[in-house]
Amino acid sequence: MAADLNAQVEAFLRNATRQRKTEDRAIRQALQALAPVLTRIRRQVEDSGLLETTVGRQQLITTLAAAIARQVQLDWGAPILADLQESLAPWIEQQQSFARRMVETAGGTLTAPGAAAAARQPAQIISTAIVNGKPLAENLTVSLPALVADKVQRLAMMGGEVFAEYDSAVVRVVENSVEATIRSGVHASGSFAQQMIYAIEADPVWLDAQGLVWTATLDSRVCPICVGLDGNRYKLGESGRYFDGTSKLDPHLNCRCYLIPYVRAGAGDERFATGDQGTEQIGFGTKVSSWIQDNPETARAIFGQKLGQRLIDGKLTLDKAIKEWAS
Ligand SMILES: [Zn+2]
Repeated sequence: MAADLNAQVEAFLRNATRQRKTEDRAIRQALQALAPVLTRIRRQVEDSGLLETTVGRQQLITTLAAAIARQVQLDWGAPILADLQESLAPWIEQQQSFARRMVETAGGTLTAPGAAAAARQPAQIISTAIVNGKPLAENLTVSLPALVADKVQRLAMMGGEVFAEYDSAVVRVVENSVEATIRSGVHASGSFAQQMIYAIEADPVWLDAQGLVWTATLDSRVCPICVGLDGNRYKLGESGRYFDGTSKLDPHLNCRCYLIPYVRAGAGDERFATGDQGTEQIGFGTKVSSWIQDNPETARAIFGQKLGQRLIDGKLTLDKAIKEWAS
């Protein structure tokens, strides 16, 4: 398969693989550090006698929850943020080189090479990457510790017998949130790093003429919202839907879309899409609606059986199907 793909498509594939590996490594690291913290919290609650207490229990649990949030912040959130700022620095640099290559191979010039590195350090990009509407630093040091405290509090309120479900009601739920947060954080920081190259280093005259284009990862896992955004054009300095004027705003957790210079897309370049026949090259000019039509099985996976079928049968436009899916 790889031999059939041209160099540009290959670069995209390589970058997607690199992203996945970077995310997986960061998630492993975060979950390994989280496990002993959650085990300790479980033991503390069980040993406190709180679960059998009847008088003043609610008050005790509220106090305990506040202590748990602080503990998770100190023992996990803050150190994990520091670890990520260090371990993801090479990822940021790779994404910037990737974006520079995107400019150069599309015939653009870098009028200020290296300016992005001077404007913002990788550690800063990572902590300020927006996940779920908040900076990654806030997600790790405030939101996730608060989630742990909230889950433990709810379970403790129900008493000792229910507390036995700690693994499914607390551990698993928190682990899933950590995974989604870090996956999104890696993507958002990489995407921001790319945008910095377009905004700061690329020749503005060259880029401004065409702007950037929303590029979804087309496969059975893509969400309909991103299918609808695919092909949308943005200009630097002007905000649009899911674009604040300088960088992309992810419409949901685990978004895998990128904004790339439209000149690339307009030049008849190709990208990869994984449909009913596996991974193929499709022209950037191919409308996402025709890709959907050509890949009915994948379309049903994306939109669900019923909605997907109506879309393929031409009973719904793509816009209508996305609206129905979202409602
Ligand atoms: Zn997306």
